[in-house]
Amino acid sequence: MKLRYSEAFYSVQGEGKFVGVPSVFLRTFGCNFRCMNFGLPKDKDRWTQHAEGNRYNPEVKALIDADVHKTTERFEDLPIIHTGCDTYASIYPEFKDFNKLQEIDEVVDYLISLLPEGKWTMANGQDVHFILTGGEPLLAWQRLYVELFEHPKMKDLKNVTFETNSTQFLHDDFRDYIRKRTDIEWTFSCSPKLSVSGESWEDAIKPSVVKDYYDVGNGSVYLKFVVADSADVDEVCRAVEAYRSVGISVQYILCRLEDVVKVIISPFKKLRNYVWNKGGDSHQDCTYHYSGMPGGLSEEDYKILQGKQITEEQYETIRKQL
Ligand code: SF4
Repeated sequence: MKLRYSEAFYSVQGEGKFVGVPSVFLRTFGCNFRCMNFGLPKDKDRWTQHAEGNRYNPEVKALIDADVHKTTERFEDLPIIHTGCDTYASIYPEFKDFNKLQEIDEVVDYLISLLPEGKWTMANGQDVHFILTGGEPLLAWQRLYVELFEHPKMKDLKNVTFETNSTQFLHDDFRDYIRKRTDIEWTFSCSPKLSVSGESWEDAIKPSVVKDYYDVGNGSVYLKFVVADSADVDEVCRAVEAYRSVGISVQYILCRLEDVVKVIISPFKKLRNYVWNKGGDSHQDCTYHYSGMPGGLSEEDYKILQGKQITEEQYETIRKQL
């Protein structure tokens, strides 16, 4: 079996507990979701319908209709889209051929070529982290991961993170493997999708799956959420409650807000406390971070979205409840 992946690159981790740490990212192909609503007004029917056969973000649909997948040569030349899942070429089958299909030996050689010193632990003692992202990296690719981590050129690897949408249970053999590899620090960076993604609560909020990661007992789990307005904040509160009901303490809450956070920093800190209080969890350590979608919305969509973002008054209402 070969691994299909869209890209691998060396960079620094931009979020979570390992912010700033040098890392090699591997983006696997395929996802069980089709998040299409990010960055779009929620009240537009066309963005919120998930009927069979309508699982294409309109921007992606337009690219496919224009044969962009047939006329573009390289993955890196594909256009950036402004809404929905920003890694569309890693999830939609039309873009499958932009992805590499390689034996583990080839994948490992490529990963090693990206390392500044050709090994996972550098001369100064700093280890380079390995981050598997996607798409959804915990789909069937799990079947290849033991071979990947057992490869001789991976033996000095010390730190692995899965950037997951947290809907996929671990395969039994991979769970056993993680438990045995106590020399590696394993992190599950869970990004459950709120309804702003267009996915349903039942499909996206799966505490038993996160508990599966948590129960491996040989690593850490944190959850992060994309938040655009006060309705999203209330959903995060409900999610914290749901995860807590199966014994999971939410360690990190990364709230990403578009635009407003740039001008309203102070309530942002309080926002996470508000979420923890309302979710009934004890306050943990956390990081918070601003990140916007690349590009921009159309003028019309932007105007509508502006009205849907958290206003200063809404922040004030939240603040008073703290
Ligand atoms: S879960 Fe992540 S990779 Fe999958 S469609 Fe949603 S944003 Fe994209």
